[in-house]
Amino acid sequence: MLTELLYRIRPARPQAHLFEVEIEIPAVTAEQVTLSMPAWIPGSYMIRDFARHLLRLEAMTAAGHPLDCVKLDKQTWVCPSAGESFSVRYLVYAWELSVRTAHLDQTHAYFNGPNLLLCVHELRQRPCRIELLAPPESLGREWRVATSLQPDVVDQRGFGLYRAADYADLIDHPVEMGQFDEIGFVVEGVEHRMVIAGRQHADLDRLAADLPRICATHAAMFGELPIDRYLFLVTAVGDGYGGLEHRYSTSLICARDDLPHPRDTTLTDGYRRFLALCSHEYFHLWNVTRIRPQAFMDGGLDREVHTRTLWAFEGITSYYDELALVRSGCIDAKGYLGMLAATITRLMRTPGRAVQTLAESSFDAWTKLYKQDENAPNAIISYYVKGAIVALALDLTIRRDTHGACSLDDVMRALWERHGRSGLGVSEHGVERLASEVSGLDLDGFFAESLEGVADPDLAGLLAEVGVAMRLRPQAGPKDLGGCVDQLAPWSARPTLALRLRVGTGEALVQHVIRGGAAERAGIAPGDVIVAIEGLRVTAERLDTLVERTASASGISVHLFRRDELLELRAFPEPAQADTCDLMLVESVSDSVASARARWLTGGG
Ligand SMILES: [Zn+2]
Repeated sequence: MLTELLYRIRPARPQAHLFEVEIEIPAVTAEQVTLSMPAWIPGSYMIRDFARHLLRLEAMTAAGHPLDCVKLDKQTWVCPSAGESFSVRYLVYAWELSVRTAHLDQTHAYFNGPNLLLCVHELRQRPCRIELLAPPESLGREWRVATSLQPDVVDQRGFGLYRAADYADLIDHPVEMGQFDEIGFVVEGVEHRMVIAGRQHADLDRLAADLPRICATHAAMFGELPIDRYLFLVTAVGDGYGGLEHRYSTSLICARDDLPHPRDTTLTDGYRRFLALCSHEYFHLWNVTRIRPQAFMDGGLDREVHTRTLWAFEGITSYYDELALVRSGCIDAKGYLGMLAATITRLMRTPGRAVQTLAESSFDAWTKLYKQDENAPNAIISYYVKGAIVALALDLTIRRDTHGACSLDDVMRALWERHGRSGLGVSEHGVERLASEVSGLDLDGFFAESLEGVADPDLAGLLAEVGVAMRLRPQAGPKDLGGCVDQLAPWSARPTLALRLRVGTGEALVQHVIRGGAAERAGIAPGDVIVAIEGLRVTAERLDTLVERTASASGISVHLFRRDELLELRAFPEPAQADTCDLMLVESVSDSVASARARWLTGGG
């Protein structure tokens, strides 16, 4: 008799992008069984309605009689099982290549559980098994399986049966089937693998040398590595960037040029970005997949779950992902300050920071951060960007006010002790309370300002305490994000229209109009294509120069197309905002500042 829930996945029709899924459901005492597809995937806070790709659901008794399942809503079915075991079959269309979705063609199969696997509600807490079947013989002789699922009975290529503790565990392991490169390394006695699917020519030895240092840095900070295996599941593409965290793995997508090439002699910006992404997702192994907001434990995957704490789970993680690169020795202090300067620049270039608080940014992730439009820069602030800056400010405040006795590292260790190891959820103000308790400081004012207020933190003052000078200046060119400099040279502000163009089109297509700036006052709108300034033809590349050279007290004439209608407007360019951050490592500092800086950048006590 069937006693255990079994999911069977077959990449059945790769050319049609169709997975075949079969679920064998053992008898339950209830008269009917409820099945549902998640509406969202943990770690990515947007309703995606995965059930929309589910096709032709059929249920059958063990004796082969069809069962009439009734669909209750967009993602839920009820099957009249009459207390007997039965099976369900359906197809899933899989043609979205991202770390959150599923993708199947003749070159590979990739899926996340929430895209493919119905939850059997009556059995969701019970252990189950999943059988991964090979694709049609003509295609997949070379295919292998990469996943962090616990193998049960699998062949040499990894096809076969895997075990999961319950439904939540089952859907927490992305699966890649196909051909891929692979490296292995050990951190604190735990086997780690990185699998890279997609065409690439990466220097695997260099990856195998750098990644363990970053992983070990995080493990050393938390004082414990709470896993028995870990998989970095990478897909390399022409252009892409993203990651999604899981308890025993992470799915990453990256540009193949971001991976290190055997001929690279330096650390490229792309490789630094890739290492920071790996570092970010690995930090989540503690922060958010084990130290979890209580709200996520209370809520399900059928609708939005709101929490004001994402700044702590994504912002603090974003702070440590780059800090770990310098602490591990993968980059030097100047390299780190360059990355930090770019983050500060992103914050300063977002007028929405004066509109939306960090707590609101977390709470409204579902409808704002994940659904950005042309007005987003004016209306919202990212809890990743501002969250990372608030984490920096919190760390430097604790270090300063405890005279180096305590830091955010201690707060993270306490979070791990109290919430991660025990599985006790973090309440809506839990991180704030614990930070005050661990540091012995009254941080109420800091958190009121940082989470509920919209003023900019005093970063220059805090950074000075660790021997770093900060200066804001206007942007010097389209790619200028600020950086680490040897000297803070004087600057003057060019006249600009305060708008942002869509990159890559060649024409001056307006993407964003900055709130309160010259373009807004002139009536220029997102979607407009500027074709001439003062009667001279404009391209995306030429716009800034033309505005700068023609600006005068009487303004400039701007010709643009709105839809297919030509408009002429008069604009009055204004000096560019000082929104670009330079940081400088101050050479001659006192011994106490030098030692505070060393403790911050090394993580040493
Ligand atoms: Zn994250």
